[in-house]
Amino acid sequence: MSMVNPTITIIGTGYVGLTTSAVLSNAGYKVYAVDTDQMKIDTMKEGKAYFFERGLDDFVRNGVESGRLMPTTSYEDSVPHADIIFSCVGTPSKDDGSSNLDYVYCAAESSAKCMKDGCIYVQKSTVPVGTGRGVIARIGNVNPNLKFDYVSNPEFLAEGSALFDALNIDRIVVGGDNHKALESVLRIFKKVDDFSKKLDHSKYKAYVGFYSGKVVNIKDSDFSQREVRTSLESAELVKVAANSFLALKISFANSVAMLCDTVGADVTEVMNGIGLDHRIGRAMLYSGLGWGGGCFPKDVRGLISVYKENNLDSPIINATVEVNNGMVAYVVKKLQRIVAIGSCRIAILGLSFKPGTSDIRSSQSILLANRLFDMGAEVVTFDPQANREARKELSKGVEICTSIEEALKDSDVVVIATEWKEFLEYDWKSARELVSGNVLFDARNRLDKKILTDIGFKYVGIGR
Ligand code: NAD
Repeated sequence: MSMVNPTITIIGTGYVGLTTSAVLSNAGYKVYAVDTDQMKIDTMKEGKAYFFERGLDDFVRNGVESGRLMPTTSYEDSVPHADIIFSCVGTPSKDDGSSNLDYVYCAAESSAKCMKDGCIYVQKSTVPVGTGRGVIARIGNVNPNLKFDYVSNPEFLAEGSALFDALNIDRIVVGGDNHKALESVLRIFKKVDDFSKKLDHSKYKAYVGFYSGKVVNIKDSDFSQREVRTSLESAELVKVAANSFLALKISFANSVAMLCDTVGADVTEVMNGIGLDHRIGRAMLYSGLGWGGGCFPKDVRGLISVYKENNLDSPIINATVEVNNGMVAYVVKKLQRIVAIGSCRIAILGLSFKPGTSDIRSSQSILLANRLFDMGAEVVTFDPQANREARKELSKGVEICTSIEEALKDSDVVVIATEWKEFLEYDWKSARELVSGNVLFDARNRLDKKILTDIGFKYVGIGR
């Protein structure tokens, strides 16, 4: 076994696993990438990602062509070679909000059958606190004589800037019982950091969306300052607590926005005013349609479940969800005061849950489109990357357009539902000729109210 240049196996090649395997293979590691989904593996073999993330295809292609990135559906062909395994399988919500750990346990048990002695099993998936001990027990049950270590290493990359985040490591958290195993995992990412410092970052600079706010100047930053060593349980809690806090910041901004609407204040001005306080920070203090995606909703609900299981109340986290759940209805109500929804043609711009990704999981934009359609509106939509993905989630009668112009044409109301750069930088002056009505509902508070008003739109935001 070589812990100087270990062979790595990544299990689960979704948003996290695919990005991680592409980055590690480009940084010089030999990486087996395993998934049970043949389509995802076949697409990777062709040198592509099966979803959209800026710059990622280049990394996948480079990894595959170099021979260091080896996609496979076989555990037997990949796990026995591994010095370090990263489990990156999904952890969706169950109906009651708790985490479905079937994939996590299944990946661990399948690996246990063919792991070699001395291997380190690293959990990157977001799991409820206590899961690690359960995984260790399961691996032990399947293969009682196996000598292995277990490390929790939560992942902090954000969709929409996944590659950028994986290269600009803002912190690496490792938790577990064996100090040596923690150091081995940290070394992996130190090498990524060294590799990353030599890259031309302008080439891979993702459109860091409204949500991100992650700005790390890794060139000036010592990696050791970004290492966090913890117990297994603490590492597991870091991730869900972090996501719940980020969601809380958005819900907080939305709570203030609703007050702003009533008292005539502008939430953007208020957040600018409080965000400059370094104890608070401006990132994530954005009001709008609310948070969605494959992580926040399930992680926040999952944390509430853990409180319940431990007979504890979670009032702050409950409120975070409650505020978010009300945002689509809030937008509808605000729109209802301006137009008769049932007799309008409404253009919804943006379907992905945030800009920079084709991911439509728990997208508030799709929820809004369907709600307006149910209320009798003619709804037309457009997304720069997620049209195909959105089709199965949108009500049948909701039309998907192939361009912004097609969506805008003859619409009475335009709603910016996801803050794609394409919409923020659009020539709204020319759009005035295309639309029939003049209402522009900026449900992400990103456009310049004055400019839009001067052009002749009736600008409506949330809390401004
Ligand atoms: P995903 O659903 O996109 O990918 C999971 C992959 O695992 C799928 O491709 C699936 O086919 C595969 N899989 C499931 N069971 C398997 C098995 N037994 N063996 C091999 N492959 C298997 O999920 P994701 O968004 O990449 O998230 C993965 C984990 O990372 C989750 O716990 C998530 O909460 C966490 N996370 C996600 C993000 C994000 O931005 N998406 C960020 C940080 C952490």
